Amino acid sequence: MADRERLDMFCYQCAQTARGTGCTVKGVCGKEATVARLQDNLLIATKGMAAYLYHARELGYTDTEVDAFLERAFYATFTQVNFDPEDLVRLALEGGEMNIRTMRLLKKAHNDTYGEPEPTKVQTGTVKGRGIIATGHGLKALEELLKQTEGTGINIYTHSELLPAHGYPGLKKYKHLAGNLGKSWQDQKRLFSQYPVAILGTSNCVQLPKEEYRDRMFTTGPARLPGVPHIAGYNYTPVIEKAKSLPELERKPGDVVLTTGFSKSVVLSQKDKIKQLVEAGKIRHFFLVGGCDSPLKKGEYYREFVQRLPQDTVVFTLACGKFRINDLALGEIEGIPRLIDLGQCNDSIVAIEIAQALAELFGVGINQLPLTLVLTWLEQKAAIILWSLLALGIKGIYLGPILPAWVNDDILKVLREDYDLRLIGDPEEDIKHILRI
Ligand code: SF4
Ligand code: SF4
Repeated sequence: MADRERLDMFCYQCAQTARGTGCTVKGVCGKEATVARLQDNLLIATKGMAAYLYHARELGYTDTEVDAFLERAFYATFTQVNFDPEDLVRLALEGGEMNIRTMRLLKKAHNDTYGEPEPTKVQTGTVKGRGIIATGHGLKALEELLKQTEGTGINIYTHSELLPAHGYPGLKKYKHLAGNLGKSWQDQKRLFSQYPVAILGTSNCVQLPKEEYRDRMFTTGPARLPGVPHIAGYNYTPVIEKAKSLPELERKPGDVVLTTGFSKSVVLSQKDKIKQLVEAGKIRHFFLVGGCDSPLKKGEYYREFVQRLPQDTVVFTLACGKFRINDLALGEIEGIPRLIDLGQCNDSIVAIEIAQALAELFGVGINQLPLTLVLTWLEQKAAIILWSLLALGIKGIYLGPILPAWVNDDILKVLREDYDLRLIGDPEEDIKHILRI
């Protein structure tokens, strides 16, 4: 990881702020740059956790201990309350632990409500008829949309982080859940222009719409876009009426069929087989390649990385970074798929629990497993998930496409020395280093 030029701080949260515009070297209050950055880190990471809490609460699941942590975390970023960098790192790690609780809560909410996912093939083209594309993470919003469109002749297509919805028995039972269109969040403008259907944005990541489809776009839940009607609650009649007013799509099968829905139970039902294959040298290494997809050019690393992996490796994936690789035909190792889609970014808890179960199975710690995490990050959920992984003591994570900009040299030193965090480099070189070849 190349050394980075130390960046100055920036803070303008109180009336003492320098020149009335912002403290940019050191706080008038005495706050140092590293403290300012660790406070920003805490806010950024807790925002990610808040999104997961929101979706759990939608389904009636809450955790007062996590709520209480959020109060302490926000309070620690006040003016003149916490100048201690070590304590702010400790709080970030505690945030990581709290996020594990939160992701577990959301997983329970999803599984209790919709059943545990099962491997499911998902079409990527269109069927004849009118349609609605739902994007984002909101399974509850999708469920309501499916209920309200049943029998109307309108087909529902998922986009990006709603792809994993197809694996849930309580959602896949709707026959008009027709498939998934497009890839990660960043193809919205092209995709939504291409298909003359109504569009529902259920959460982040929604992009500012192009004029050509603004009048057929809606938001719900936390998502809001200027000039786009917002639906508070779950009455999607305006979306359905808009879909009915638009032309029918023609049947056009997609180029690939995706597979999603590998739950913890599904993967662990194969644990004895996995152990046998590892011990026989037929599975050399596991990778988790996924996270939030980034539009940076360096995001191409992840596809190349997976394409270059030897045949005796297995790749778990999750979150919208999966769209870099989920069309690849990686095949199987004696019945074990080489590409296993665990779901949304919040399903990182599934990956964590599988890793913990495999570690137990092999009688080793997680860091001794033949497992390497190769993560892509974009936004605040990825930030809190990183802290969750660090809180578990996981070392040697490869992170990309860039280092978070709020990480200065002091913070980087901790991440390198205590957690052996690495920045992605050249795919081939990284594979050689990981597999010691
Ligand atoms: S909290 Fe401190 S660093 Fe921030 S604006 Fe106020 S004086 Fe400046
Ligand atoms: S995984 Fe991250 S980048 Fe992708 S849609 Fe979700 S929040 Fe956005």
